[in-house]
This record gives sequence, structure tokens and C-alpha cells, in this order.
Amino acid sequence: MLEALLEAGADVVRINCSHSDHNAIRRQVARIRRAAMRADKRVGILLDLQGPKIRTGPVPDAIDLKVDDHLVIAMDDELVGSGLRVGTTYPAMADDVNPGDDVLFDDGALQGVVEAVHRDRDPKEVVVRMTVSGPLKSHKGINLPGVDMSVPSMTEKDRGDLAVGADVGVDYVALSFVRSAKDVEVLRAEMTKLNVDLPVIAKIEKPEAVENIDEILDVVEGIMVARGDLGVEIRIERVPVVQKELIQSAYKAGKLVITATQMLDSMIRNPRPTRAETTDVANAILDGTDAVMLSGETATGSYPLESVRMMDSIAREVEQSRFFTTTPIAEIPAPDGVASVVIRSACWAANEDERALVVFTWSGKSALVASKARPHGPIYAFAFNGEVLDQLALAWGVTPLELQDLRSVDDLIAAGIKELKRRKLVVPGDKLVIIAGSSPVVGATDLMKLEIVGEDA
Ligand code: PEP
Repeated sequence: MLEALLEAGADVVRINCSHSDHNAIRRQVARIRRAAMRADKRVGILLDLQGPKIRTGPVPDAIDLKVDDHLVIAMDDELVGSGLRVGTTYPAMADDVNPGDDVLFDDGALQGVVEAVHRDRDPKEVVVRMTVSGPLKSHKGINLPGVDMSVPSMTEKDRGDLAVGADVGVDYVALSFVRSAKDVEVLRAEMTKLNVDLPVIAKIEKPEAVENIDEILDVVEGIMVARGDLGVEIRIERVPVVQKELIQSAYKAGKLVITATQMLDSMIRNPRPTRAETTDVANAILDGTDAVMLSGETATGSYPLESVRMMDSIAREVEQSRFFTTTPIAEIPAPDGVASVVIRSACWAANEDERALVVFTWSGKSALVASKARPHGPIYAFAFNGEVLDQLALAWGVTPLELQDLRSVDDLIAAGIKELKRRKLVVPGDKLVIIAGSSPVVGATDLMKLEIVGEDA
């Protein structure tokens, strides 16, 4: 199935550490790499650290909570829930909350308000008066919107999962429940200890992160609009506008952005999505997202392949419409310098003269900037290092392709065109705009060449 999903258009695979132990991470990475090899495709692997997600303790028989019931949450993660009493994985909850604070359970399906906090009891207790009823089960998420939580941004589980992910060579690390740039610094320090420097995706799912988005964007390679928890932590009706704001901020900063959660939710159960879902995917793309993400649809749903095919097909449809526009040259978020002049000029030529963009890139940066230009035609990115290639899989419109590091730029270009022909991505007569660096170092893009694919190249 994994191989079929990649062939149907999936470019990046997320491993959700909330549902994976160390063996599962290793097994999944091996599986993804094997499937990518068979599909002859570069695929990015995103290790999504669980972060300080608060959950209920074990509840063998769901507790049927009614409005005005008083639920007691005891600061004990092993307490077996029954009656109107449950445990929690977050023992500091009793220190962080106060009467009047909102408490949401199970992604907001159940809600309540803190009525009393008993810090003198052992274990400490928080009493919640229910305002929205429903069955409360084991290990369900608890959200405390607006509460300034003392919980650290990385848990022991995250540290262990990161070490395994680094060992097996994942391409991106996503950090959950980021609040500020400081949370990202903690992750970077952990990576330094492990002697790795992986690109970081900050999951934006807390109101503090929405407020601090600019400082967060300064220290990450990308963000995820994690609408699942975001829609619980802020009022759900704010999600569409916050999504647009976050995508625009990431775009301006030249950083990657993934839009996630419930995109084709009904396809977990049905072979066809709703009209609202197809419109949601299309609108995220029009907002400027680089990637659209499926979760339950492919992780546990009955129609994983249909879901990827549908997402791919919605993306192709909207990108061909007149509403999907290329970025004005002056607004392409490129760093200053020669590389920027070359990349901007190449993007202009690609659009003006209907040329495919061919980028020879050491660090992947030139291809990322070209991607932000949203050119009409394809972007073929040749890189020389597997990590860069797999990371580029996340960039909008980029097809990462491997190439040997040859001696001269002329050799590189000739070999690149040969590879494009071998893969039937171009045919003789096709027009290309090529950018490259005349010296093999990062940031050295200084060359642009207009080429027509020949018969024998
Ligand atoms: C989300 O909350 O939208 C999300 C992507 O995170 P997770 O799947 O870990 O809940």
C-alpha cells in the first residue's frame, strides 16, 4: 500500500510518535525507504514528536458524562478511571489551572469548566463541571486553552524518539505544542547532543504559537497548521482565518508550510469526499500551502489510496485554474545577493517563455526559493546528496532527482538533461531554463542558461 500511495502522489510520510514506539519507528522508516526505492522516487520522512500531549489515564469502561456532572481528575497517571473519577498523564495540571478555566476532552468533543482545585489532597485533584456531555474513554486528549502550562516542550519520550529517528535518518522533525522560539531551541540543543542538525517543522496548535509566529518562523525550516489541536485550543471558527495568516507568514518568510488534519476526513469511512472537503483542500492550496496532509485517512481509514488520489487530483485541478497565480517576481522571498537575482530571473523566464525550471542545487535552497515563486511549469531539482533530495520532497512543485557530482557545470547540465529524457520528463524540443552554481558550494547559484532539449543530449 505504501508503494501505491507514493505512486499516487504522496511525497512525504509522517511517522506520528503518539502511536509509535522505538521498534515501530525503525520498522516504518525501513518500510518507507524500501517503498521509495521500488517507486524510484525521493520521499521525505517527517518524524512527528508527540510533545506534552495531556491525556486521561486508563478508563476500562467509558464514563458517560452528563451536563453538570462533576468530574474529578486526580493527578495520578495510573489511576483506573470509574464513576466520576479519572487519572491524567499531566500531574502539574492541578498547579496550572484555576477555577473558571475551560477543559476540553477528546479533541473538544466533551467540555467542562474547572469548579475547584484541591492542591492539599494526595493526589491533588481538579474538579470539572461538565458543560458538553459525552462518553469519556481511556487516553483521550485533554486541552486547557488559555492556560499557561508549566509543562516542558520536550518530554522523555520525545528525547528517546528523536534519538531513534536521528539514528535511522529521518528527514524532518516536527515539534508538537510549540509555544515560542525557546521550545525550538530546546529541540535544537537535543539534536546537537545527538550530533545531527535536522530541519524542524513547528506544529502551530497553541494560541501562544499563533501570537509568536514570526519569532518561531525565524528559527525553523517550516510550520504545520495543525488544525486538530488548534481547533480545540482556539475557537474553532477562528481556524480558517488563522490558517490563512499562518500560511501567509510562512510564505513571506520563505519557509515551508503544511496544512493538516481532517482534510478528507469522511474518506476514512467513504470512498468519496464531501464537497466541503474538496473545497477545503483546494482553498489551502490557494492560500499558498506547500503541502496538504492526510492523517486518519491513510493511517487507519478504509480508503487510503482513494484519499491520496483524490488529494492529488484536487491539487492538479486547482493549480490549473486561473485562481492559482504565480508570485510577482519582486515578492519571491529570496535572500539578497547574486543567487537571488539569478533565481528570480529564471522564474520570470520560466513563466514568460513556458520553460521547465531545472535547478542544480547543493543545499536545496535555490529549489526552495524557486518553489515559492509558484512557476507555471515543473521544477526539476538535481542534488547530490540523499538528505537534500529527500528534504526537497516537501517543497511545492519540486521533483527531486539524484545526480552524480560531475567535474564541470557543462557536464552537470548534460547529465541532467539526459536523466530528464531517460525519465521521460522532457522530450526533444522542450524549452528549459537552467540555474546552477559555477562553484560547488552552498549559496553559489550564479548561472542561468536557456536551453532547448536536443535529439541526442
Ligand atoms: C493536529 O493536531 O492537527 C496534528 C496534526 O497533530 P496530531 O496528529 O499529532 O494530533
